[in-house]
Amino acid sequence: MLVRPEPLPDELDRGYLGRVGRINGIQNERHCVSMITSWAGLAGRSRKKVPCVELLRRISEMTTKAFVCRHTMLPFRRGITSCQPDMPHGDASSRTMLRASGLRLARPGSYFCCECVAADQDFHGISYWRREHQIPGTLRCDKHSTPLCYVDDERSFYAAPSAFLGNCRSISAERAQRSSENPAVRRYLEICSGLLDRPIPFDVQVVSRALTGRACRSGLQRASSPRRTAATPLLSDVVLDAFGTDWIAQVFPDLVEKPRGEVMNRMDGVLYQGKSAFSVVPYVLAASVLFGSSDDALDSFLDYEEIEKRRRAERASRRV
Ligand SMILES: [Zn+2]
Repeated sequence: MLVRPEPLPDELDRGYLGRVGRINGIQNERHCVSMITSWAGLAGRSRKKVPCVELLRRISEMTTKAFVCRHTMLPFRRGITSCQPDMPHGDASSRTMLRASGLRLARPGSYFCCECVAADQDFHGISYWRREHQIPGTLRCDKHSTPLCYVDDERSFYAAPSAFLGNCRSISAERAQRSSENPAVRRYLEICSGLLDRPIPFDVQVVSRALTGRACRSGLQRASSPRRTAATPLLSDVVLDAFGTDWIAQVFPDLVEKPRGEVMNRMDGVLYQGKSAFSVVPYVLAASVLFGSSDDALDSFLDYEEIEKRRRAERASRRV
């Protein structure tokens, strides 16, 4: 008999796995996965073909799509992609992707807020790990305005965050405060949350067009443009100036090392309209400096998405 708790709001997949294991008296993640596999009747050969996220959605009695969208970091990590952008997160046809990266994190370490721990213990009787605290660059809890605590060992997710209250590191109050006062950081975090809430990714070409249109109007130079001059600023330099080296070092450390005025492909390349997506982070950094608000950025992505859909429909109708 397996005790199957409901996932809590925004609860991280790995934390949920740990909670299921602890409630059922299982000591570690590997044994917990085996136990769920047996419970689901999937023990034996088929086990390796079943993504862990599929096991968790069975435990939670949710659809795979719903579990992936509400409890994994995939909607953020795959928020802007060149790989099957029309495929919703957690789609049945994405088993290979879910098996390879279903429970993957978005940054190293396990982050939590001490005040959320206390509030959750009061309200739910237990504390749990939240997805929003695992977004790269998040230094404090939005709800409590307190610096986040963290543990370097990712196996910590198997235990409740309350287990680390006296045994964790903390972001300094001064750094957390500085980041919260930076409007570019605020826009970045809001755009990341927007991606985390979406059931489907943005096509990288759509995002790149939106960013390029905006960059041209802002007078930024495009690294691929023959009219490049030293007088017009580069996107990578503008990003570094807006966010500051201390904060950028955590989300995009290579950018800190970049000499001023030199093109950095992984950052300036988001304006090339290329087919391959880099990590989602440089696109969000670019959007945060090019748009006045996170809503403007996400609305612009949606507008360009609509234009692209119409274009495709017209092309299809011409072929008929
Ligand atoms: Zn909190």
